[in-house]
Amino acid sequence: MSAITNHLPTAELQALDAAHHMHPFTTGNELAERGARVITRAEGVYLTDSEGNEILDGMAGLWCVNIGYGRHELADVAARQMRELPYYNTFFMTTHAPVIALAKEIASLAPSHLNQVFFAGSGSEANDTNIRMVRTYWAMKGKPSKSIIISRKNAYHGSSVGSGSLGGMTPMHEQGGLPIPDIHHIDQPYWWAEGGDATPEDFGLARAQDLEKAILAMGEDRVAAFIAEPIQGAGGVIIPPATYWPEIQRICDKYEILLIADEVICGFGRTGNWFGSETVGIKPDIMTIAKGLSSGYQPIGGSIVSDEVADVINSGEFNHGYTYSGHPVASAVALENLRILQEENVLGHVRDVAMPALHEVWHGLNDHPLVGETTIVGMMGSLALTPDKDSRAKFAMDAGTAGYMTRERCFANNLIMRHVYDRMVISPPLVITPEEITTLGKRARQALDEAYTQMKDQGLL
Ligand code: PMP
Repeated sequence: MSAITNHLPTAELQALDAAHHMHPFTTGNELAERGARVITRAEGVYLTDSEGNEILDGMAGLWCVNIGYGRHELADVAARQMRELPYYNTFFMTTHAPVIALAKEIASLAPSHLNQVFFAGSGSEANDTNIRMVRTYWAMKGKPSKSIIISRKNAYHGSSVGSGSLGGMTPMHEQGGLPIPDIHHIDQPYWWAEGGDATPEDFGLARAQDLEKAILAMGEDRVAAFIAEPIQGAGGVIIPPATYWPEIQRICDKYEILLIADEVICGFGRTGNWFGSETVGIKPDIMTIAKGLSSGYQPIGGSIVSDEVADVINSGEFNHGYTYSGHPVASAVALENLRILQEENVLGHVRDVAMPALHEVWHGLNDHPLVGETTIVGMMGSLALTPDKDSRAKFAMDAGTAGYMTRERCFANNLIMRHVYDRMVISPPLVITPEEITTLGKRARQALDEAYTQMKDQGLL
């Protein structure tokens, strides 16, 4: 057996990758032809690739590396935990210190009515747990007909059959027989693209009231829960109008619908508070967590559950769990990540330093001829590409082409930004410094300039 290391030539790594590795959300043949970018190291907010490029990671991996790369404390904790107890499960009346400590810490950070954690290996798994938990909750309360979960179009809640069904991504539903029964999707509060002539406030209210309409149409006795990301991430960092969330909360309260806040991206500081629910002012019954819980250093997720829901679920046996629920190494690493976030006052850095600097840089891009709007909450932002700002027009070319071209120019300028159709998205590590934010802004503007020129040259504008 030969070792595959970073020291092999890039082309050789790419060929082996193409021969044996199937990538998520990728057209495999296209990637094989082009060759994958090989990332070899990372430190702080910078990635290094096999060609020696230093790339500013404006996405914190997949919205997860909140404390930045290269924190050896997490590696040390992982090694120590692996030596002491590399694995044991939490089934069959057993537990261990790392999972106890992590659950206690999460409960202390979460809103005061959320005190119990059900662990999973990822956000997708945690949302699968939520589907079964809310339905089981109502069944245990003698209302088994309450099984419908209402979600939103263009939401992202994961890739498993259950969580992919909760999500509202059409291209995902088209593959593999999704959604599962009793999941219903309402429209999203995306004013820029769908608001027409309405004011953002009126539009936000109307989109929230779609929830009430759906509950009334299907019957209150059929609806178990509503799930949403406080701010949609993978859908393109869609920040709802201020009128949206208070109305959603009112409706959930009125009809006794459980509210699940998917905090997989928003949690652990991304929006400037510990949880996005605090930022948008809601009181969820369950919060989904993953990503920033361990800053991506270990795969771990979970559901933080209210006392009321936990009391009901705990009164019977919940026939659900994963081999890696509360994995000791992942738990220990997550705990160390939470220690760093707190002891280094990362949220203070976000609020006082990074957020003001990033907002200024981001909104500064609004004068660019390709940019229709810039929006940002905390450390997650997006901008809309448009051929005409005033009319919020779409491009004549296929949706996503302008975004793809811009993303390619970002790569060429050593900046990672993601595109969601024709929205460009950022979500950098929370520890990013003002100097690095300046670099991010310069590279973003350069990429926009180059994309603009390219579109003009190709007669696309
Ligand atoms: N929920 C949200 C809001 C997410 O953004 C994601 C991942 N992007 C998930 C769930 C799924 O998490 P995972 O990829 O860890 O399964």
